[in-house]
Amino acid sequence: MPFIDLKAQYQALRDPIAERMQRVLDHGQYIMGPEVKELEEKLASFVGVKHCITVASGTEALLIALMALDLKPGDEVITTPFTFAATVEVIALLGGVPVYADIEPDTCNIDASRIEALITPRTRAILPVSLYGQVCDMAEINAIAARHGNIPVIEDAAQSFGASYQGRKSCGLSTFGATSFFPSKPLGCYGDGGALFTDDDTLAQAAREIRVHGQSQRYTHTRVGVGGRMDTLQCAILLAKLERFEWELARRREIGDRYQQLLASLPVQRLAVRPDRDCVWAQFTLMLQKRPAVQKALSEAGIPTAIHYPKPLHRQPAYARPELSLPHAEAAAETVMSLPMSADLSQAQQDAVVAALAKALG
Ligand SMILES: *Cc1c(COP(=O)(O)O)cnc(C)c1O
Repeated sequence: MPFIDLKAQYQALRDPIAERMQRVLDHGQYIMGPEVKELEEKLASFVGVKHCITVASGTEALLIALMALDLKPGDEVITTPFTFAATVEVIALLGGVPVYADIEPDTCNIDASRIEALITPRTRAILPVSLYGQVCDMAEINAIAARHGNIPVIEDAAQSFGASYQGRKSCGLSTFGATSFFPSKPLGCYGDGGALFTDDDTLAQAAREIRVHGQSQRYTHTRVGVGGRMDTLQCAILLAKLERFEWELARRREIGDRYQQLLASLPVQRLAVRPDRDCVWAQFTLMLQKRPAVQKALSEAGIPTAIHYPKPLHRQPAYARPELSLPHAEAAAETVMSLPMSADLSQAQQDAVVAALAKALG
């Protein structure tokens, strides 16, 4: 059983993907071809914002967002310690200082109630992550940002594209939404890709320029930028995948709900999903004690698992902050475990996972 079944998805979309790719090969505009704009328009309308800027990856989306906001060395960015390293890497690359708010122990998302106390005159942005596919407490985070002179808020939505929050879509909830199209994300291409979303015309323009080496026109470099475009073929692949995306989201919610029900009788802690939002389960993650033994037993039963993430960032060598204690993030790193999850996971496969887990837990 695969951890994420990308082959089944490809089988279902073989023809539309082949057609879309062939069209790109025929017209030959491999960089910034017509599919780039078509995808940006479709994604902006899906999210419900004015601007979508496709970029080379989710990491690049975060980096370009911070560059568009003109993050300077020494500027502070409030974020979560419990995320993929890219969230904090981009802050460090620009000489910024990550300031960590601990997480909520039941959702593993940043605890918004801890953010306000961390704001200083150097706070330049708040960068929460919508982890595992559930949007973090954006209303509360936006309210705090507004109270302190409209601090920009970037949602790292690499895992939550397609998720809803209070009737609106992830990526369209703050100054910037940044997502990733890495193959295993809820909407994945066949290589690297990502996108930024915003309603702000000036920031959108800045992001578009930064994406192509800071050019306002060809060979007029008005600012320092990056080589951060998403290529036309990857955009074409996503256009084909969009045909099935709503179905996949519905399946993810269904499978996630079913896992939650099936796990109710087992000695594990399920992730809490708040009533004003849904979860698209980029990973299906639960929390448990004696994780190494359970993982080993599952692996022997042919069930792959993963850990998102085994160390909080303030304990990673590159970002080590030994003086910091963030107990909820530290505890989550010891107990989280993700089970096989994808829109194509069958009921029989899911039953096999749960049966093997029940056995492993004794
Ligand atoms: C995957 C991921 C990223 C990085 O996306 P890439 O497209 O791999 O660069 C950033 N943040 C989070 C939370 C992610 O899960």
